[in-house]
Amino acid sequence: MTDLELKELLSLTDPAALRELYDRAYRVKLQYIGPRVSIRGLIEVSNICAKNCFYCGIRRGNHLVKRYRIDADEIVETAVWAYEQKFGSIVMQSGEIESPEFAAFIESVLKRISAATGGGLGVTLSCGEQSPEVYERWRNAGATRYLLRIEASNPELYRRLHPADHDFNARLECLRSLRKLDYQVGSGVMIGLPGQTVDDLVHDLRFFEEFDLDMIGMGPYIPHADTPLGHGIEVTEEYRRRQLEAGLRMIACTRLLLRDVNIASTTALQALGDDGRELGLLAGGNVVMPNITETGYRKGYQLYEGKPSLEESSAESRDNLSRRIASIGETIRWAEPGDSLHYAAR
Ligand code: SAM
Ligand code: SF4
Repeated sequence: MTDLELKELLSLTDPAALRELYDRAYRVKLQYIGPRVSIRGLIEVSNICAKNCFYCGIRRGNHLVKRYRIDADEIVETAVWAYEQKFGSIVMQSGEIESPEFAAFIESVLKRISAATGGGLGVTLSCGEQSPEVYERWRNAGATRYLLRIEASNPELYRRLHPADHDFNARLECLRSLRKLDYQVGSGVMIGLPGQTVDDLVHDLRFFEEFDLDMIGMGPYIPHADTPLGHGIEVTEEYRRRQLEAGLRMIACTRLLLRDVNIASTTALQALGDDGRELGLLAGGNVVMPNITETGYRKGYQLYEGKPSLEESSAESRDNLSRRIASIGETIRWAEPGDSLHYAAR
């Protein structure tokens, strides 16, 4: 596909043309993966963060957030619950802390999960930028996948989103380290950011391709009023509709371009539309990540406003998800780790 073709697809707004785009991407998904969905139980391990990303509700500078870190016993208990419920895999996500204590904490939790499940539960980490040594320790302790979004592959846009404490090249280096350590590497971007152009999104797609990623985790940007980027943006019904549509177009184009990678239908889609996650699957996504964090912590992990399932228990969310996925004619791959086909092939 040429850049021009991608640009045209990413600019579609006509409902019939969009339907055709989603259907085309869905057919590619069926061809490579079949009508199957992998699930990962998401555990929001800690909202303590040293970074100050302009878009994120749990940025260091948001003093309205009550900070927490779930203790090790509770994380292991949740992971074992997920294993017994046949989730096949989990994602442990957190704010970014680069400290020997945090590195050792995650390492020890990983080892305990591996021991308690006989290594039978796939574990993805999403704990930000760390040194190659820390990534290696976590890999050896049982993590097999890592999600680190590039957020915006245009370095200038990236700089505007993180003017103070981020370095685009350092983030690229982290992705390279993860790849060298034989992780299944996931990255992605936010879609519909203020100041982002369609050319930026084409550049993002080319970035995914050039980095030869195994997994794509991306979603629409959703404003949070207590952040520099989200302050003052009025989130109308029309805004939500447009952001959801932008997210779906990008999923479809990613599936058309990359074909055999895992693509998450992320929570941000669900936050914008009750059936957003299902629409993401029908546009080419093949992974969903239901939140299995104890409900008491969830209010403390609001990256954006309107986060769904704040009160829904993990068991309810599991049942609800099964029903919804069956309703679109897809089946959940229970008890399977759902590794990236792209990774297996490379
Ligand atoms: N701290 C780690 C990091 O930044 O890589 C992992 C956790 S971070 C909360 C996970 C992702 O949330 C980020 O990569 C970012 O894309 C997304 N995110 C943060 N704020 C968001 C917002 N307002 N709208 C949509 N996604 C957002
Ligand atoms: Fe911290 Fe990640 Fe949020 Fe940035 S996106 S402020 S690193 S939690």
